[in-house]
Amino acid sequence: MSQALKDKIIQSLIDQKEIFGDDLFEESILNSRRTEIIAAPADEDSLFKENWELAENLGDLNKLICECQKCALGETRNKFVFGSGNPEADVMCIGEGPGADEDAQGLPFVGRAGKLLTDILKAINFSREEVYIANVIKCRPPGNRTPLPSEMETCMPYLKKQIELIKPKAILCLGLTAAQGLLKRKDSLTNMRGKIFDFGDVKVMVTYHPAALLRNPNWKRGCWEDVQKFRKLYDELRNK
Ligand code: SF4
Repeated sequence: MSQALKDKIIQSLIDQKEIFGDDLFEESILNSRRTEIIAAPADEDSLFKENWELAENLGDLNKLICECQKCALGETRNKFVFGSGNPEADVMCIGEGPGADEDAQGLPFVGRAGKLLTDILKAINFSREEVYIANVIKCRPPGNRTPLPSEMETCMPYLKKQIELIKPKAILCLGLTAAQGLLKRKDSLTNMRGKIFDFGDVKVMVTYHPAALLRNPNWKRGCWEDVQKFRKLYDELRNK
C-alpha cells in the first residue's frame, strides 16, 4: 500500500473523529485501526472487498452469504443451498442449482438425482463424504427453470470462493448449465464431454446432470465413460 493512501485513510479517520466525537471513534479503536492500516499488506484491493470475500473457511463463508438477496432468486427460495461434503476434498462435483428437494432441505443433490449421483461416485470409488458438492447458483429458480445468465453471473463469485477455499485437484461438472457457467463457454455438452479444461489450477471434466440421466436412461452409458475418464484423471493428478 502506498504511503499516500495510508496517510489519506488515517486523515479521513481523524477527520471523522473530529466530526462525530468519541461516540463513533474511541481513541483506542482509532489507534488500533491506524496500526492495522500501517501494517496492512500491499494489497489495496482488500480494503474494498466485501466481508465474505475475506472468509477463511467454508463455515464463515456460509454465514456471511446465507441471507444473500443479490438476485431475485433470494426472494423466492425457501432455503439457501450452500453445498456439502468434505471441506478439504480433492474432488468437487458442481451442478446447476437447487431443485425442489434441495430447496426444502437446504442441501445439494438430495432426492432421486442425489441418490443417482451417490451411485455414480460409488461406481468410480468415491464416497459422497469424501467429495464436496455444490451448485453454480445457491437458490432455486422458480419452477426449476434454467438460471438466467445474470443470476449465474451474480452468484458465481460465491462458487469461486468455495473452490479457492477447498482447493480441489479436479472438478466434475454436472450438466450443460454448470459447465457453461463455470467454464464460461458456449459449447454444447457433446463438445465438452471427454475433454479436460482448466479452471485456474484445477482440472475440470464435464458429464450429464443426474436429473437428465433419470429422464434419459440411455445416456447412462456415456456418463459411465465420462466418469471413468474423470477417475483416471484424478488418479494421475494424485500420483503427480
Ligand atoms: S442465487 Fe446466489 S446471488 Fe442470487 S440470491 Fe441466491 S445466493 Fe444470492
